Amino acid sequence: MIRLTTPAAHLRPNERYGLAVLLDASRLLPVDDPAADVVRLTITNDRRDDYDAFLAGRWALTHEDGEVRFSRNVLTYVSDVAGAGEEQRSESYDPHDRVPSHENPLVRAERWREPVVSRHAAALRAAVRTAAGPRPVRCLAPWPNGRRWAAAFTHDLDVVAGWPVFTLLRLVELLRRGEVGRAARSTWAGLAAAGRRAGGGQSPVWQGVDQLLRADGDAGVRSTWFVIGGTPTLRTWAGGDVTYRPESRATRRLLSAVSDGGHEIGLHGSFASWLDVATLRRERERLAAVTGRVPGGVRQHFLRMRPGATQQAMLAAGFRYDATYGYPDRSGFRLGVADIVPGWDAKTQASTPLDEVPLVWMDRALSKYGGVEDPDAWIEDGVSLAAACREVEGLWVGLWHPNLTPALGFPDAPAGYGRLVREVLAGERPPFVGTLGEVVAWRAARRGVRARTVTSEGRLDLVADGEERQQWPLVLEDGQGRVVETRPWPAGDHG
Ligand SMILES: [Zn+2]
Repeated sequence: MIRLTTPAAHLRPNERYGLAVLLDASRLLPVDDPAADVVRLTITNDRRDDYDAFLAGRWALTHEDGEVRFSRNVLTYVSDVAGAGEEQRSESYDPHDRVPSHENPLVRAERWREPVVSRHAAALRAAVRTAAGPRPVRCLAPWPNGRRWAAAFTHDLDVVAGWPVFTLLRLVELLRRGEVGRAARSTWAGLAAAGRRAGGGQSPVWQGVDQLLRADGDAGVRSTWFVIGGTPTLRTWAGGDVTYRPESRATRRLLSAVSDGGHEIGLHGSFASWLDVATLRRERERLAAVTGRVPGGVRQHFLRMRPGATQQAMLAAGFRYDATYGYPDRSGFRLGVADIVPGWDAKTQASTPLDEVPLVWMDRALSKYGGVEDPDAWIEDGVSLAAACREVEGLWVGLWHPNLTPALGFPDAPAGYGRLVREVLAGERPPFVGTLGEVVAWRAARRGVRARTVTSEGRLDLVADGEERQQWPLVLEDGQGRVVETRPWPAGDHG
């Protein structure tokens, strides 16, 4: 447990955001009660920390009996990294109009493979434990069901119609790289698929989706699918943007199979939607009309977005969470967290109700940008990032494209997905696995829990300000992860 002392100086909005993110990620149970004998947290005005040290995982966190102190400039660093404050100030763009990775502070400091902010939050928890002495320390259990970390598998549905075009584009890419063997196998698979199609057989797109659904089903994974809601035109085809309609028979058939498997469907926002509320809302409604369920989540196609502005459009269009914050050209932690954080809008200097679920690992990052064509190497990369998420008891989010099939130019990929799922779930401490909607709901609920009062016998009066009550019980731990108390999810404080 921890109680914030009244700050010596008024905190600025971005500092308040940074503090909220840090405390939430630390899992320490906040206490309102001014009389409770718990560890106090004091934010100081000394400016002893520098940004580079913070990015490298160091900060001046001091503790003495019953008190933990750190300086307020750390809070600005948290909002610049986890709130993408720095990326929102960037004015440089790549050919796809995205903020290039080198504008990200963690890439600049060569720390993008480390959940730096999540580690700082764990250090805060450890400092509170040390400072506590005989005082009680209470933390909220990280994930439901006694699980110590979480994993979510996602799939962006980029290809439904016109698949031979994608086979040809991929052949060009493979031959340019001298991957003659893979190109030959893809050509053969593509021709065989075309032959089967002519004979009335299944399309390779259907087969790709079917294989992923089988792998998810075998492992008991409910995944999250991001689906296009726009209209293809010659221009969108040429730009690699929208290439199918959500209402087509082929798309409907795929989406029924996805829904029947209990998976979640979110919007894969088109290029035109990125800063346009009306387009985002229209695409969301088109998808809802096909699936019968309004999508709560969105991830922009190509991860094409303007940090801040795109999220404001998503919020205005009615979305609950955004899953776009991944690096387009590498895997790692774009917001420095293996976790879910509230959005931060630098323009209005306000925390937003759109939760950010950063993308940690992507199948094609090594292939497209690193020229590595062996799926085993991609999977090793994903599994090593999952280990970093496990270490901070955080969340790993992976993306595997259903169009990675032999006929579309990826001869070894389908078996790779099954292996990825098995390896991420394997080990002594298996993760909690859920759709992005489920992990967002859990984190939002956990974030809202606090203790209003603490009686002299140590009895806690808990309230939960999250909008969603959880079906899971609330588990309180001591500072070492040992369960102290389990009780039903508390009621809210808003009458
Ligand atoms: Zn896409």
